[in-house]
Amino acid sequence: MLSLSSVNVGDYIEAVLDRNLAENISRVLYPNDNFFEGKELRLKQEYFVVAATLQDIIRRFKSSNFGSRDPVRTCFETFPDKVAIQLNDTHPALSIPELMRILVDMEKMEWEKAWEITKRTCAYTNHTVLPEALERWPVSMFEKLLPRHLEIIYTINQRHLDHVAALYPGDLDRLRRMSVIEEGDCKRINMAHLCVIGSHAVNGVARIHSEIVKNSVFKDFYEMEPEKFQNKTNGITPRRWLLLCNPGLAGVIAEKIGEDFVTDLSQLKKLLDFVNDEVFIRDVAKVKQENKLKFSAYLEEKYKVKINPSSMFDVHVKRIHEYKRQLLNCLHIITLYNRMRKDPSKSFVPRTVMIGGKAAPGYHMAKMIIKLITSIGDVINNDPYIGDKLKVIFLENYRVSFAEKVIPAADLSQQISTAGTEASGTGNMKFMLNGALTIGTMDGANVEMAEEAGEENLFIFGMRVEDVEELDKRGYNAREYYERIPELRQAIDQLSSGFFSPRDPGCFRDVVNMLMNHDRFKVFADYQAYMECQGRVDQLYRKPREWTKKVIKNIASSGKFSSDRTITEYSREIWGVEPSAVKIPPPNIPRD
Ligand SMILES: *Cc1c(COP(=O)(O)O)cnc(C)c1O
Repeated sequence: MLSLSSVNVGDYIEAVLDRNLAENISRVLYPNDNFFEGKELRLKQEYFVVAATLQDIIRRFKSSNFGSRDPVRTCFETFPDKVAIQLNDTHPALSIPELMRILVDMEKMEWEKAWEITKRTCAYTNHTVLPEALERWPVSMFEKLLPRHLEIIYTINQRHLDHVAALYPGDLDRLRRMSVIEEGDCKRINMAHLCVIGSHAVNGVARIHSEIVKNSVFKDFYEMEPEKFQNKTNGITPRRWLLLCNPGLAGVIAEKIGEDFVTDLSQLKKLLDFVNDEVFIRDVAKVKQENKLKFSAYLEEKYKVKINPSSMFDVHVKRIHEYKRQLLNCLHIITLYNRMRKDPSKSFVPRTVMIGGKAAPGYHMAKMIIKLITSIGDVINNDPYIGDKLKVIFLENYRVSFAEKVIPAADLSQQISTAGTEASGTGNMKFMLNGALTIGTMDGANVEMAEEAGEENLFIFGMRVEDVEELDKRGYNAREYYERIPELRQAIDQLSSGFFSPRDPGCFRDVVNMLMNHDRFKVFADYQAYMECQGRVDQLYRKPREWTKKVIKNIASSGKFSSDRTITEYSREIWGVEPSAVKIPPPNIPRD
């Protein structure tokens, strides 16, 4: 983006400085997970990507001459038939006012016509219901950076509110709730409301999440236009998440059912015929053991950590966030440790608990959770009375290339978010496809995994969404659980007293204070159910043949979670196109 006029007048230095300013727009990727940080640079980035994408779309549409007998004046009637803009979260929500600007200001179209085209072109996928994650930009920032888009948004909102007022006369509170503009000391633009209003379809990413979208965040919008709301359960690509990362498992599957499952994952259900096939059971168990040995060797070589490859690999990998409840896992680990110390002669199933994930740099509690995991590990891993029975490893720098290594080696997949908080999850699907059993709550896509495999083939525990709602009405009081459950009290007292941080005894006071006094994700309320469920995990792991039979049932039931199925549904039910047979490209393998 060298400024040519600067070059023409010979001011090379100014031109280079300008270019640096322009390049700053794409210099940094905001690292938050499920959190809205209203930084000006981020808004500039979002507009930059939207503007460039729409210019590209319009250029292609015009050069293809769709539906236009008069190439001088492009006919936009066919635009929504030829173009679909799927808004992946609200981050590209500016597409709506930007497309309106292009049609009305540049193409001189009437507002009504432009609005119809925009709505038929755009569709919106919601990815979270956590209020702190929803984009709400200050109007003042738009006044400064995007004044024309602000005018357009005001007009969109005025027409929308006129429509609401006509449907619900006198309901002023509804107008306030449904407005794109939130009034207050800081006027804000609710980008999710803009997306719903400017789209012909709105979807959640798992069945339970799509239901929550309809009866909580967008309840008023659903009441007004129920036919807009859809579900598209997420999926994962079997090329990367089976063939590439787990060729051993792909091989033993192909020996039984051929290779067509690679492009039609529903064919995995043919494996149900082999649940009692002793050779297949042995082969699946053997592949898992080989993957565990290979991963153990990798950890030792790269990070100098020695783990016991015959222990249960209990894996909890995902971004560090309070709602994902890594702290619930920590409380299980601490309690297991206390039981082992109390009763050293008792037989325990050896476990290697591996927790991995990145904390956003500005998220203090997430960093404290990592500190807690490594601190618990320092005590437990160096306790001679514990030995190989329990190890706690924090997996650094969790990323796709690392996920491809650890997931094929996992026995147990931890999916333990508070019911109603994880929109879908996709890690849960990767583990299921790679022969790990799931310990999880009835949240996100876990619900559909349990439906596909049978609830008895997952380790489901804890509060359902309705239970969480009821507890909210009663009022969640962490202290009640602390006082009633001795093992929970012991674990919390250890955190308070510095048992796991002897050189800095006050280290975890913020964590304890949060858990005891303002835990939005109700860790203690699921502690007892989680401990009992982990007991059932141990009992099954003692019966390797039974364990592997459940693994096979899970793999056989994972076909629904192919992204091929997901994309086919978006094509038919939102974009109005039939998916055609295309050559599926191989996964790309970035240098690590
Ligand atoms: C799949 C994946 C995720 C998403 O995991 P969830 O458990 O669904 O939160 C996050 N990070 C990486 C590197 C992944 O591969």
